[in-house]
Amino acid sequence: MPDTTIIDRCETAGLRMTGQRRTIATVLEAAHDHPDVEELYARASGIDPNISIATVYRTVKLFEETGILEKVDFGDGRARYEDADRDHHDHLIDLETGRVIEFVDPEIEALQEKIARRLGYSLKGHRLELYGTKLK
Ligand SMILES: [Zn+2]
Repeated sequence: MPDTTIIDRCETAGLRMTGQRRTIATVLEAAHDHPDVEELYARASGIDPNISIATVYRTVKLFEETGILEKVDFGDGRARYEDADRDHHDHLIDLETGRVIEFVDPEIEALQEKIARRLGYSLKGHRLELYGTKLK
């Protein structure tokens, strides 16, 4: 779990926190999945029916530009978001159900370091998505 809330980090970043931005930040804080803008809009409008999808879109973009959210792409062309302050992990996407499983594998982490070093680089980050169907 991140040490600070999304609202704390927005304030530290100097973002003006309107009521609607606060609502969206609260929804993001409570999200333990990888919602896209439409899903965030559905959740946020459950709290504040006056919120528009355009506001959710703009706010999420602002949070992403500020480094508070990370955009993730699971191969279906929809931008999804997660808290950028979460501990590093990779994703496995179930192609039949869309379920997303988070994992960390020390061997993969070490292997990527090794590959970067072999290519003359110091590794600063990576993104890995696995796509699969459940074994029957
Ligand atoms: Zn994740």
